[in-house]
Amino acid sequence: MNTLRKLEILADAAKYDASCASSGAAKKDSSKGQGIGSTGGTGICHSYTPDGRCISLLKVLLTNVCLYDCHYCINRRSSNVRRALFTPEEVVDLTISFYKRNYIEGLFLSSGIVRSADYTMELVVRVAKLLRKEHHFKGYIHLKTIPEASPELIIEAGKYADRLSINIELPRHESLQKLAPEKSLVRTRDAMQTINSKISETIQARKEMRKVNSRAKRPSFATGQSTQMIVGADGSNDSDFLKRSEDMYGNFKMRRVYYSAFSPIPEPSVVLPLKAPPLVREHRLYQADWLLRFYQFKVGELTTEAEPNLDLDIDPKLSWALRNRDLFPLDINTAQLEMLYRIPGLGVRNAQRIVRVRSYHRVGLEDLIKLRVNLKKTMPFMICSDHNPAKLELSSEALRLKFAPPPEQMELDFSSLVPMLEADTKEDLKAKEAQQKMTAIAGKEARHGEF
Ligand code: SF4
Repeated sequence: MNTLRKLEILADAAKYDASCASSGAAKKDSSKGQGIGSTGGTGICHSYTPDGRCISLLKVLLTNVCLYDCHYCINRRSSNVRRALFTPEEVVDLTISFYKRNYIEGLFLSSGIVRSADYTMELVVRVAKLLRKEHHFKGYIHLKTIPEASPELIIEAGKYADRLSINIELPRHESLQKLAPEKSLVRTRDAMQTINSKISETIQARKEMRKVNSRAKRPSFATGQSTQMIVGADGSNDSDFLKRSEDMYGNFKMRRVYYSAFSPIPEPSVVLPLKAPPLVREHRLYQADWLLRFYQFKVGELTTEAEPNLDLDIDPKLSWALRNRDLFPLDINTAQLEMLYRIPGLGVRNAQRIVRVRSYHRVGLEDLIKLRVNLKKTMPFMICSDHNPAKLELSSEALRLKFAPPPEQMELDFSSLVPMLEADTKEDLKAKEAQQKMTAIAGKEARHGEF
């Protein structure tokens, strides 16, 4: 099999991993000679560096051969797909030639497990080592790590990669046992701990060296780790996902937890749901995740025992505010910064700006307009020098209706009558439409990351 054919198979097989920004976007394929400029056929995706730059990456699997049989994965042992295996040298050649043509700025490499976890990890490490040591490649390298591999190999991978990630896949131990019987939550957490300890150790060693102005070579190790969970493949609720994310951020200092809405794969396992979850669920989880990381919310505030799932119609901060009407309206001229973060429509940056502005004069609507605050959402929940919503006395239900999308006519679903292959294409189209709708909602609600 030639390299291009392998690339087609292995770039396509890598598209289910959500750990890059363009994974879910609709792609136009120009690989058949119609049109130019498509990167879809060759697995080029985008990611963001810590300084906010968007970079393109070659996103590919080393192999889609796998010893494991994770039900949600298209590359599982029992799946009837075409298989391919790159040699490390082939991945290195592709990366360097794409880089020289200015197609990419880095590599995102994942792999199925071939022969054994250690054997596969050795191949993955070899790719990164060859790039760094022989080709002096200074671009970004993200390696997916195999939790079952030995800690020494995981640490070796970290020496060459900028980012390591291990997919935790599902939030609950029982779900993992059912859908990925060969995987273990304990082993995955151990591997994450190995990476976390090594990152902390390297940061500490670098600090010490800076203190004494040492000229010795500074130790290098990946600067962060991330993980991914599949949403909607099992019965876990949003509270389960958010609790697991809190665990990941708190115990392993994850840079990001990615949520990937489960999409039905060709020839799915019988234990999987037939339909994908609404994409807006993934979006709400990202919003809730943002609230945990930057707005000082706790999982127990965003979901409750009675309502373990996030409201799909309104964002989680608004939903929390409507459940806690007794705390509002808040006077933005006197409220503490932590409480300003909780006003719907007010983002972290604007809350901090308000605190700065009010040290000079009382903040009024004109100031908020200058700060481009989302007044429609904010006004029912705040008091400022020339606005007090107390008289409006809108009920939580009335406010919810004001911000929820208008009800839509239900569609009859005939997909079960369509043959499997057609259903697959139809799901793709639906997913694209849903993606566009969701992007529109996301654009409105989370402009500048403020909601
Ligand atoms: S180990 Fe990874 S590649 Fe293999 S079946 Fe499971 S998820 Fe898929």
